[in-house]
Amino acid sequence: MLNKDLLQMETKDVYANVTEKVKAFKYENPNAEIISLGIGDVSKPIVKPVIEAMHKAVDDLSSMDTFKGYGGYYGYDFLREAILKNEYQQYGFTKEEIYVSDGTKTDSTSILELFDKSSTVLLANPTYPIYRDGAAALNRKVEYTTLDENFVMEIPNKKYDIVYICSPNNPIGNAYNKKDLEKWVDYALKNEAVIIFDNVYQGFVRSKDIPKSIYEIEEAKKCAIELRSFSKTASFTGLRCSYYVIPNQIYKDINVVWKRRTMNRFNGASYIAQKAAEAVFLPQSQKLIKENIDYYLENAKILREGFKKAGYEVFGGIDAPFMWVKSKDQKTSWQMFNYFLKELNIIVIPGIVFGLAGDNYIRISALGKREDGIKCIERMLKNEEKN
Ligand code: PLP
Repeated sequence: MLNKDLLQMETKDVYANVTEKVKAFKYENPNAEIISLGIGDVSKPIVKPVIEAMHKAVDDLSSMDTFKGYGGYYGYDFLREAILKNEYQQYGFTKEEIYVSDGTKTDSTSILELFDKSSTVLLANPTYPIYRDGAAALNRKVEYTTLDENFVMEIPNKKYDIVYICSPNNPIGNAYNKKDLEKWVDYALKNEAVIIFDNVYQGFVRSKDIPKSIYEIEEAKKCAIELRSFSKTASFTGLRCSYYVIPNQIYKDINVVWKRRTMNRFNGASYIAQKAAEAVFLPQSQKLIKENIDYYLENAKILREGFKKAGYEVFGGIDAPFMWVKSKDQKTSWQMFNYFLKELNIIVIPGIVFGLAGDNYIRISALGKREDGIKCIERMLKNEEKN
């Protein structure tokens, strides 16, 4: 018998409908020059010092003296130590609280195995849809909270056991400030809840008042697990390497239990990916990575200003590579999608993909090429003039 829980997943593939509609349009309009502002993938390649470290790692595998096989379940010490030294020592963590993995997509839902099956899960509406379907596949009870006028999750007036917070946020592209996070840490402590803090876009934070980590809130060590990835910051979307922190303070023996589980389920991220990840922390890599992220943030600025000029209300895109664009005329997100595709040959992501509350919005991404973004703005403004 099939696992019924898997049938509860709402979406086969979040973007499946988008892809199908684009394919049909291309078939009918083979000469249309279609540009995507929908992509969630990066366009900049991996920086040179990281590539060099990978070449060296490949060579290590070619000799009996330096060969590496199974590498441990929680990540090589060299990488956990680099993560600790560069990112988490400042908050008082130890290596034993850090885990290396092969992608936050997997980590963000497999972490639910840490908690009792009866745990209730609270998500934002709209949300990164993987949390929703990941929880459904594990048969966890999921409810939603709305967002306030600043697109921050509203505190519910009842208890939930697990709360997902994504900041900087996908899809909206905003980021939570210290007060927002303090409010949630306070909720978690009062309700004995655990926050799963998806922080994969932390490298995009530029505003002074936006915490780069939830652990900037002192008490968060008692109630929050933080997930990070090399995907969007260091262009590892294809290479695959992520990491997360489980503070000892959350429950007694939490890391003993999770290590047992991880040892049972996972044989580690690849040596090559981990060697590449270690090289991400080199000063020369950091400089180049910052330049790449600055490029995306400049794209975001151009897109934001262009959409505003065309009369749209635009949110996000300052500390994240995404923007949330509101319909000017009460169009649904699929109507907006159709307008952009058919009139302008531009692909955008309809907000409803991320939840019902996203239905008057589209998500646009700044992770593509600068020239494509500029072309989109030109098309949009030209069309506005015509109408
Ligand atoms: N979390 C969020 C909010 C994302 O937007 C993404 C990727 O789009 C991921 C996690 C997945 O990251 P990874 O490539 O590490 O699996």
